[in-house]
Amino acid sequence: MAASSNSSLSGSSVSSDAEEYQPPIWKSYLYQLQQEAPRPKRIICPQEVENRPKYYGREFHGIISREQADEILAGVEGAYILRESQRQPGCYTLALRFGNQTLNYRLFYDGKHFVGEKRFESIHDLVTDGLITLYIETKASEYIAKMTKNPIYEHIGYATLLREKVSRRLSRTKTESRKASVTGEENTPVEKITSLVRRAALTQNDNHFNYEKAHNFKVYTFRGPHWCEYCANFMWGLIAQGVRCSDCGLNVHKQCSKYVPNDCQPDLKRIKRVYCCDLTTLVKAHNTQRPMVVDICIREIEARGLKSEGLYRVSGFTEHIEDVKMAFDRDGDKADISASLYPDINIIAGALKLYFRDLPIPVITYETYSKFIEAAKISNPDERLEAVHEVLMLLPAAHYETLRYLMIHLKKVTLNEKENFMNSENLGIVFGPTLMRPPEDSTLTTLNDMRYQKLIVQILIENEDVLF
Ligand SMILES: [Zn+2]
Ligand SMILES: [Zn+2]
Repeated sequence: MAASSNSSLSGSSVSSDAEEYQPPIWKSYLYQLQQEAPRPKRIICPQEVENRPKYYGREFHGIISREQADEILAGVEGAYILRESQRQPGCYTLALRFGNQTLNYRLFYDGKHFVGEKRFESIHDLVTDGLITLYIETKASEYIAKMTKNPIYEHIGYATLLREKVSRRLSRTKTESRKASVTGEENTPVEKITSLVRRAALTQNDNHFNYEKAHNFKVYTFRGPHWCEYCANFMWGLIAQGVRCSDCGLNVHKQCSKYVPNDCQPDLKRIKRVYCCDLTTLVKAHNTQRPMVVDICIREIEARGLKSEGLYRVSGFTEHIEDVKMAFDRDGDKADISASLYPDINIIAGALKLYFRDLPIPVITYETYSKFIEAAKISNPDERLEAVHEVLMLLPAAHYETLRYLMIHLKKVTLNEKENFMNSENLGIVFGPTLMRPPEDSTLTTLNDMRYQKLIVQILIENEDVLF
């Protein structure tokens, strides 16, 4: 079956319009091994067993010894029973035949069955997965160790695909991949290819801002056979076969995920909101230099609010600020925040501050927080500025760019101090805690740090060149 999926790839229309493009060969060795793995054989107890936990079936044999279990299993590969410990009643053991020996596993139940990390609906699933894992990891341990050595990930398409051809193919393969996913398991590899081609195309697109972004891998259970998009090998097992990036959908082995470069290109379809979304994730998904909220709000404020008294200090009506937030979450860069809808500029200023406060990782990241505070504590102004400059270099590129842009704007605000009564110190008080939050939220640190948070923002506004 795996071989037929492979051969169907070479003839697939995905690659037909680019002679120089070679589709990757999905490696089916581990898939074949999974097919060969012994199947579970449940040995049921001939008589009724007292005290059988209700979540076990007739494979439960009650309190018996290891030797008795061994006899019952009779040397049949894949045969299994459950027994209660003689020494520790209430503790249960899975006895399983594999590799001509009886393996004993302490068995747990908390609504699901497990012996290790993976949790299963049924004992049958647990044993099936266990046998696959044991079989593959015994038979192919060397192969698995070397699996990550020669990834298809880096060379796939990157160097050979021409952008024009890619974009043509992209528009077409979108519908193909949807088709592929409904026609069933055999087409899974085709779907994989389109996903890689899409990634290759995105990498080649010059218009993308070159921010690094790590993938957001989460353990994932794949339905139907799946192949790793890093090493091209089969992802074995019954559940939790690998990890999937929640932002871009890349599927890889857990062990391969450590080698994937930080080149995540989030898929807009997966990014549901604008607020509360990681800053780098948002700008990569929307292909913008900065979060669009920042650009749009600042544009609006500079157009009609720079002279507004108490700008950023006076708060807008909370419900209206929430409205603006909802508009951005719903309409993205089409959100209407014009004066006809929101005549009070403090609502727009409030929405911008809320955007920064809602970030899961603040503009000044948790990682750099204490370094900024330490820098602010330096008394010599020149040394302090130098220290701030050094820590700024540690910020992720998209965070740095957003901070730089905001500071240019805040500088303009201070240039209108005569009308708006906002100087860099006032703005420092407002934006300090908005842009930087301590990693552990303790009231005491926050109080102690507040004047340093203020000072950092003040320094950034007053010393524009530190950010260039
Ligand atoms: Zn990703
Ligand atoms: Zn892999």
